[in-house]
Amino acid sequence: MTERQRSALAYVGLGSNLEAPRDQLERALSALALLPLSECVARSSLYASAPVGPRDQPDFINAVAAIRTRLSPLALLDQLQALEQHHRRVRNRHWGPRTLDLDLLWYDGLARRSPRLTLPHPEMSRRRFVLEPLAEIAPTLTLGGELPLTLAGSLKDQALTRLVE
Ligand code: ATP
Ligand code: CA
Ligand code: CA
Repeated sequence: MTERQRSALAYVGLGSNLEAPRDQLERALSALALLPLSECVARSSLYASAPVGPRDQPDFINAVAAIRTRLSPLALLDQLQALEQHHRRVRNRHWGPRTLDLDLLWYDGLARRSPRLTLPHPEMSRRRFVLEPLAEIAPTLTLGGELPLTLAGSLKDQALTRLVE
């Protein structure tokens, strides 16, 4: 595990549309708070969204969490993927249904591109189900110079509902 001297702020997007998705997300949020060298400093409300890609699957439940961490970006991704496995995620088809999806959205403003890890997450600025929960916990974060809510404003055709706890 690569440990950094200084802590970084990271945002993680959570999604689930199988096997009691709200429970999956609540359990994943609790597990994120227990990651090594890390603390969960904020979490959004839960949201319901229509699936991206194939429509013949249940709606997703989504949220975003802010993690302060001394894990390197790849070490954090390893931890997120281990957590997905723990939730018995089976990878079958791209953008298909899953018990838990954890995307590393943003890590200390770092920009990098590789198949294993691209930062910021390449789709985040085009997904209302990422931007609106992100706006709750990071309203002043800029993505390509734009605020999350400004970007979300042009994506109202993507159905999204904030769930009341
Ligand atoms: P999308 O990335 O469009 O949301 P997805 O979440 O369904 O699609 P996955 O099957 O979960 O895609 O991930 C495919 C691969 O993407 C993973 O093996 C992972 O290494 C890689 N990847 C690249 N950048 C990131 C990132 N920022 N966060 C998470 N995974 C990433
Ligand atoms: Ca994803
Ligand atoms: Ca993913």
